[in-house]
Amino acid sequence: MAPPIILTEGLTKDYHLGPHTVHALRGVSVTIERGDFVAVMGPSGSGKSTFMNLLGCLDTATAGRYVLDDQDVAGLAADELAQIRNAKIGFVFQQFNLLPRTSAIENVELPLLYAGVHARGRRARARACLEAVGLADREGHHPSQLSGGQQQRVAIARALVNDPAVILADEPTGNLDTRTSVEVLALMQKLNRGGLTLVLVTHEPDIATYASRHLVFRDGRLKSDERVEAPVDAVAALTSMPADADGEAA
Ligand code: ADP
Ligand code: MG
Repeated sequence: MAPPIILTEGLTKDYHLGPHTVHALRGVSVTIERGDFVAVMGPSGSGKSTFMNLLGCLDTATAGRYVLDDQDVAGLAADELAQIRNAKIGFVFQQFNLLPRTSAIENVELPLLYAGVHARGRRARARACLEAVGLADREGHHPSQLSGGQQQRVAIARALVNDPAVILADEPTGNLDTRTSVEVLALMQKLNRGGLTLVLVTHEPDIATYASRHLVFRDGRLKSDERVEAPVDAVAALTSMPADADGEAA
């Protein structure tokens, strides 16, 4: 069996605020397999974002082990972490985080620019990713000319462009209406069926029903870890939803 894409053992994060110590993560041990679609849930303050920041190599653990795609990450220096992050992780955020006066395709190309890919290679790869998210005909549009759902799909294309080992999404549907949220989830399910590993933070149980595994955090601990036998199929769910009034639908 292939080794897991993500393995943590006793992952711990303390924040020091003057004389106080906040125990944000209190020893989380979990493995995420290639091709998993994981929803990370739990109440506010339970450690979800801290966990995602560690997985995304945006921050370092106080203690514990983290192996990403066969590479031991704990203890690496900031520049080494940045390299791993750029090569292995695709991020999707609630606020989309697209550059405003920049076309969709240029937004998608950006990580390749940082990675030093030449212009023609960037364009071809970005175009393929925009096509994968159903926006081939919008490559010249700026974010303000796109709906919220389309902007999030551009952000997903940008996250895919480096061919990452895993996509980390923190509340990616938090700014979208219900139908648009399910459209974005349909895209995520499609990418997941193609083999992509996804870790999605959500505080909404409805959103989590589209994932195939639920990790629930509480007080910095992993409270439960359950596989979902039959996740809700987003495409099927869309057919039983009223059509969107302002034409978000792809
Ligand atoms: P969640 O994303 O589940 O809401 P977080 O991971 O953001 O939870 O926070 C977990 C705990 O760590 C909370 O008590 C929070 O206040 C604390 N915390 C998070 N980030 C910081 C920080 N940068 N400095 C101090 N405490 C923090
Ligand atoms: Mg959070």
